[in-house]
Amino acid sequence: MIDKETLVDWDKRYLWHPFTQMQDWLAEEPVIIERGDGCYLIDIAGNRYIDGIASMWTNVHGHNHPELNTALKTQIDKIAHTTLLGYSNIPAIQLAQKLVELTPPGLNKVFYSDNGSTAVEVALKIAYQYWQHKKEPSRKLFLHFDNAYHGDTIGAMSVGGIDSFHTTFDSLLFKGIRVSAPEAYHSHHAVDTSHNKSAVKTRWLNAVERALSEYEGKIAGIILEPLIQGAGGMLIAPKGFLKELAALAKRKETLLIVDEVMTGLGRTGKMWACEHEDVTPDLLCTAKGLAGGYLPLAATLTTDEIYNAFLGAYRDLKTFFHGHTFTGNPLACAVALENIAIFERENLLSKLQSTIKHFRNRLQEFYTLPHVGDVRICGFAAGVELMKNSDPHTPYPLEEKVGIRVCKEALTRGAMLRPLVNTIVLMPPLQISTSELDALLDIAYTSIDVVTSDPSH
Ligand SMILES: *Cc1c(COP(=O)(O)O)cnc(C)c1O
Repeated sequence: MIDKETLVDWDKRYLWHPFTQMQDWLAEEPVIIERGDGCYLIDIAGNRYIDGIASMWTNVHGHNHPELNTALKTQIDKIAHTTLLGYSNIPAIQLAQKLVELTPPGLNKVFYSDNGSTAVEVALKIAYQYWQHKKEPSRKLFLHFDNAYHGDTIGAMSVGGIDSFHTTFDSLLFKGIRVSAPEAYHSHHAVDTSHNKSAVKTRWLNAVERALSEYEGKIAGIILEPLIQGAGGMLIAPKGFLKELAALAKRKETLLIVDEVMTGLGRTGKMWACEHEDVTPDLLCTAKGLAGGYLPLAATLTTDEIYNAFLGAYRDLKTFFHGHTFTGNPLACAVALENIAIFERENLLSKLQSTIKHFRNRLQEFYTLPHVGDVRICGFAAGVELMKNSDPHTPYPLEEKVGIRVCKEALTRGAMLRPLVNTIVLMPPLQISTSELDALLDIAYTSIDVVTSDPSH
């Protein structure tokens, strides 16, 4: 048995944590998780924390779930991995069938990879090559949005829109058409009335249409996160934006790529965010919750039209030359199948509706805190934006690390959170109970109150 001091020592000596300023990390006591129990995480000292961010937006039914564990154990007693390059395996076949059944009609083909970034890379490369097969090779550019997050690989960053993540790598990224959001989009209060929301939507769609016209015949596809931009700060798109964008893409004969990496698997209250606006994209990316938060697994789904364009004689080289070594991993696919089976067996999406209503109601209380500038909610995901001054809106300076301090406070009160700069994200596992959810929201509320009302804190 390895002792706590050694673990802490080795962590600091050998590990480089993602999206983490290691200088700060080294100065602090790390939380090292040892076990999970439903919606709780348990560290090596035995402390229990409510998982308020579903372990980086992945967990669906809770940790250490008996049925998911059984699915994994049953599969591992058969085989852990075998390749999908030139061969096939049972769980990958069954999951592909299930995903086609589960996604909007028309998405009939499944291409596997391992994470959200690769699911996006696959979508971009399929779209790009598709136009070559269609004899429109000048369609080389992707239209993408400010504040978008599609992953950290070079292609995914190229269609991203978060300057603090992406500017450093600017000269490595391929050029695309980046469309800005209207000013008012950033401040929810300013778009509070439905009239204003609709005006924002129109201005935004007009900007897209202008770009599509300016680059007529040069756009391979439009990529976006449907309904809500996650890592960009939990920013909610105006209602109907997705549907009208899809119509615009169709009219301009370009492809629509929907990145459901965060929104998929029930997070918005429906299985896919696209369903809220009856949209079938040309390509759909899914990852995070696909294997219930257990294992890395991703899929890019597409239509017969796109798939068929890649068919031809071997020597024609129309093949999609792309594939990751662990693509279609049987363990991950077996867990994903069970993940989806639980949705169906427990009628989870219909049960989730009342949880979402409760979540939404309770989040209104956060507006009573003087430094809460905005509460943005989409299904079972929320962002509570903290502001130095909420009228007029004045953001907290970066060096105050207010988001990080709130999450640290929450930890001492029994909840694990992770901020997006000054926005506190609340995204628990879908299966969280009402009392656990109340406890999580109480902790978040108190932590914000304590940190923002005490300047010395
Ligand atoms: C997290 C995320 C990704 C990247 O997924 P990884 O598995 O971290 O590579 C891509 N798109 C969206 C919308 C995401 O939220």
